[in-house]
Amino acid sequence: LKAILAILDDYPWFDDNMLKTAKWISQYYLSSLAEAMRLFVPGLSGVKTQKAYQASAAMDYEAAAMLLDNKPEEYRQALTYIYAHGPVSLKDLAKLPGNIDAMIKFFLQHKLIIHADTVNTRGKASTTTIINLAVSKETAAQAEQMLPKTRAAQRRLLQALLQNNELALPQLRHLNISQATVKKLAEQGLITSRSVPVLRNSYDSVCQQAAEVSLTQPQQHALQLIIPAIKAGTHKSFLIHGVTGSGKTLIYIKAVAEARRHNRQAIVLVPEIALTSQLVARFRAAFGNDVVVIHSKLSVGERHDAWRRLQSGQAGIVIGARSALFAPARDLGIIIIDEEHEFTYKQEESPRYHARQVALIRARLAGAALVLGSATPAIETYFQALNGTHTLISMNKRVDDVPMPEVTLVDMRQELAQGRRSVISLPLQEMLARALAKKEQAVILLNRRGYSTFVLCRECGHVLKCRHCDISLVYHTPGNSLRCHYCQERHTVPDTCPECGSRYIRYFGAGTQKVEEALTALFPAAKIVRMDQDTTRGKMAHDKILAAFAAGTYDILLGTQMVAKGHDIPNVTAVGIISADTALNLPDFRAAERTFALLTQAAGRAGRGAKSGQVVMQTYNPEHYAITAGAEHNYPAFYEHEIAFRRQLNYPPFANLIKITVQAADEIMVHQSANKLAVELAQAMAGIAADIIGPFPASVHKIKDVFRINILIKTKDPAAVTSLFTALHISSRKDVIIDVDPVNV
Ligand code: ADP
Ligand code: ZN
Ligand code: ZN
Repeated sequence: LKAILAILDDYPWFDDNMLKTAKWISQYYLSSLAEAMRLFVPGLSGVKTQKAYQASAAMDYEAAAMLLDNKPEEYRQALTYIYAHGPVSLKDLAKLPGNIDAMIKFFLQHKLIIHADTVNTRGKASTTTIINLAVSKETAAQAEQMLPKTRAAQRRLLQALLQNNELALPQLRHLNISQATVKKLAEQGLITSRSVPVLRNSYDSVCQQAAEVSLTQPQQHALQLIIPAIKAGTHKSFLIHGVTGSGKTLIYIKAVAEARRHNRQAIVLVPEIALTSQLVARFRAAFGNDVVVIHSKLSVGERHDAWRRLQSGQAGIVIGARSALFAPARDLGIIIIDEEHEFTYKQEESPRYHARQVALIRARLAGAALVLGSATPAIETYFQALNGTHTLISMNKRVDDVPMPEVTLVDMRQELAQGRRSVISLPLQEMLARALAKKEQAVILLNRRGYSTFVLCRECGHVLKCRHCDISLVYHTPGNSLRCHYCQERHTVPDTCPECGSRYIRYFGAGTQKVEEALTALFPAAKIVRMDQDTTRGKMAHDKILAAFAAGTYDILLGTQMVAKGHDIPNVTAVGIISADTALNLPDFRAAERTFALLTQAAGRAGRGAKSGQVVMQTYNPEHYAITAGAEHNYPAFYEHEIAFRRQLNYPPFANLIKITVQAADEIMVHQSANKLAVELAQAMAGIAADIIGPFPASVHKIKDVFRINILIKTKDPAAVTSLFTALHISSRKDVIIDVDPVNV
């Protein structure tokens, strides 16, 4: 037991349901309870500590004070303070008299105190200045009369205060009153000012005009199912499978409005906040400041304020990426997960939870509705919906009967046979030419997973790899450098092959830069903007690029996965997909699902407005069901194929997977310890229906000089397996990572 040092808050961070959810997470995903609880406290996941000091346990106060006999009185004062309060931050100590740095140095040297960094969960508070009259209204009115005409600003401020009693500093700007004016009146003793803390609300400025629209028939139908559940206040879950442009957002808004009518709060999850600012804007337009937005680029202080606004009831709706699921909603009425199939809902560090799974738990505990939405639901979710876990709502038409875009599949092998070697096929080139001629816009997607610009020796076939990670280096034109995308190390391009000394070193693969060059050569007048890891590093960079593109500053938006998602730009009529099938070759049983989802999302960007859309998909694999179903916007056809494959091989949803990764810096040791673990597991799991696959090297065998070996367990009884891990102390091993229901295998 440890003593309580201080009570930080006058309100509890956790309610009963939050604690139950944390316990469920720690059990199911095998994390510690502390890790699971941290999810509910903003900022703690990226712990911010503050330098602090406390009394040394080796020394009692009397003994310590004796060492200060020859020192000034300030020393005794500071030491007393630390012994009485500790741990105290340097900031608090700075308020005491004397040279605190020198004193701390002396205390540490003589071991009177020790370092004890404190955790600051609240970050920097934000304040604003409030101005009041310091005198009676009569006196102020008289003073105002007596001021000469030239003191117009001072008179305006006094008049404003006579009307409003008090004013916040930001309001003065609208009245065209400067700080100097405030200072002058304060000096005359007419006004006073004080500083008060404010809870910030990021995205204050993001807003979009709300136009009243009447619901479409499918939207009405969906709401007729969802609204009674919210009214009843009992848990129920829904899957809205709606094609791109079918109007899912308006359903979310109306459902949230219903929850708010009953004074219950709402959590809205989006896969990545940077790609969904349009959704945020629509919620803002409907609910104004009742919405708080949480995302990873906010400071700890800003997060804390958003949390507090929700907890105190100043706001009722939180929108954010997966971490917003842990917001302290007081009376949760609804959780919405938009694009529920996205892999970003899975956290890749401990606790390795999936937001969809945890949302179901939270919603059940709170008696809240859960609404999942997607044009390409996860196979697991659709399976659950067909089997009654969720009510399935299908919307297979776009709003106003806007047609789905027309898709052309281009077999790149035939292009090659006809002597065309460009990354841009003839049909793609022609489609772009047509769109540009009509002043319409195009989006070009380079599906870059496993297909980046690598460097290869044409004599011996050697591929340049990172020294620390078993992964090809990626070539970047600016700076003519090679970079490792795992550890970020940079290398210069060698003149000769390090393996055979040959000078024939060449770049392969189609990076976005290479596609950009090809496009520029074909359409020199077109204005092209690139959106990839290189161009979107800064805060809100996605938003800026998308906003400029939406405003018509550019003709073509070119990029990786992120150009396929979240935007609704009526003038985009052409979508080109450079390599539809690259992700199909990944050694992952979800490769087809990923591919289908990406193609559907990307195609869904075309022709969302009055003008009809066209899509060209380039592929080396035109017969694959993920490609053909993607080209036909046919989710059910894809699902039928995929679910049969999953059933046959006993993959999710027919079994749960648990991935165990064994890590070590020594390559021989890592194999030995993985083998040993596999044998141990095989013995212990004899009575459980489960298959053990592996050990086999992880798809990236080495990252940052650490080798990684995987063991995969397939089971219909994951709880039996995980409790075994706990019993055998496997889950607490430092060199073992356990991932329950992994999304990357
Ligand atoms: P989804 O999220 O399903 O892809 P959105 O919610 O973005 O689709 O809706 C597609 C477009 O249709 C948007 O421009 C939206 O403003 C418009 N829309 C949605 N519902 C209606 C409606 N009831 N009446 C008119 N326009 C609508
Ligand atoms: Zn590396
Ligand atoms: Zn070589």
